[in-house]
Amino acid sequence: MQIPYIDLNAQYQSIKSEIDSAIEDVINKSSFILGSAVSEFETGFAGYCAVGHCVGVNNGTNALLLALKALDIGPGDEVITAANTFIATVAAIAHSGARPVLVDVDPLFRNIDPVLLKMALSQKTKAIIPVHLYGQTADMDPILTLAEKYDVAVLEDTAQAHGATYKNRRAGSLGMMAAFSFYPAKNLGAFGDAGAITTNNANLAENVRMLRDHGSQQKYHHDMLGYNARMSGIQGAVLSVKLKYLDQWNEARRKIAGWYNEMLQNTPIVLPLSNPEYGHVFHVYVIETDQRDALQKYLSDHQIPTIIHYPIPVHLQPAFGYLDYRKGDFPITEKLSDEILSLPIYPEMRQEQVEFVCEKVRDFFSGR
Ligand SMILES: *Cc1c(COP(=O)(O)O)cnc(C)c1O
Repeated sequence: MQIPYIDLNAQYQSIKSEIDSAIEDVINKSSFILGSAVSEFETGFAGYCAVGHCVGVNNGTNALLLALKALDIGPGDEVITAANTFIATVAAIAHSGARPVLVDVDPLFRNIDPVLLKMALSQKTKAIIPVHLYGQTADMDPILTLAEKYDVAVLEDTAQAHGATYKNRRAGSLGMMAAFSFYPAKNLGAFGDAGAITTNNANLAENVRMLRDHGSQQKYHHDMLGYNARMSGIQGAVLSVKLKYLDQWNEARRKIAGWYNEMLQNTPIVLPLSNPEYGHVFHVYVIETDQRDALQKYLSDHQIPTIIHYPIPVHLQPAFGYLDYRKGDFPITEKLSDEILSLPIYPEMRQEQVEFVCEKVRDFFSGR
């Protein structure tokens, strides 16, 4: 049986005619950068996230960077985020000029631990970036309470949690701002790089709008130093089509996660834990086992691809050596990096494919 890790072509085939005509429309209008396709998507996505404003940009990393810039964060400031995250979260902080301060995660839900977060706050802290990793939101209430008390901004990294909820509130509407990635493999993925910022604050939205386009509101008038970080028209058009299916696709991911949970019961594996008050969207399905490397090899030998999110924690990457963190500083994150494994999951995955993966996992543990 063929089991891809994800299958973007299957998704394309399911909505091909809509996608093709939306792309053709952009080409006919030669509206390649920003334009009506991007502004229509911005309106649609702001509505979906239940926020006042959405600004489309060229990728998720720049969405984080522009949000930090709009919040006036730079050299001399500190920004706190989770040690267990993709490099981009920390890279965006570093590019803003601020110092990244990492905090370990809670071992059950694997997102930033609010108790440790409190201990990491300093006079220099200007913002907190909770990452809604793997498709489940961070525990936002204690984070928002701390942020309010210490007057720091909360910027959600929502790159893995399009459509997720926290106590019935939508991810992307929980903090002062949120940054999304529409990298093709995300729950809502473009046909190339794309990203967006959501916020209820009109001034911050306007700021980001200027920052993404060389600091200008009017062509060739530059009020501030900005970037070239605009979303392209084709990405806006593709994303508007796909947005209509996002809830349905997230529901399919939850169903697949449910099958995994059921079929992997009574194995030595630690299954991903969902908080019943959160709407998990299973960007990835991450299991834990101290036999991770052997299991990964066994699955690979049976043509089942898996991925590790992430094999080397950010604080042990040479790029962030200057932060002077050491092995042992974030024990939960380090243990996860040794023991986690992401199994194939995508909305079009069929039950017999999940069964096949689970059968092989069970075979591995029963020594067959
Ligand atoms: C994908 C991702 C990003 C970066 O998005 P790009 O569009 O690839 O720049 C940032 N943070 C997290 C947690 C991600 O998974």
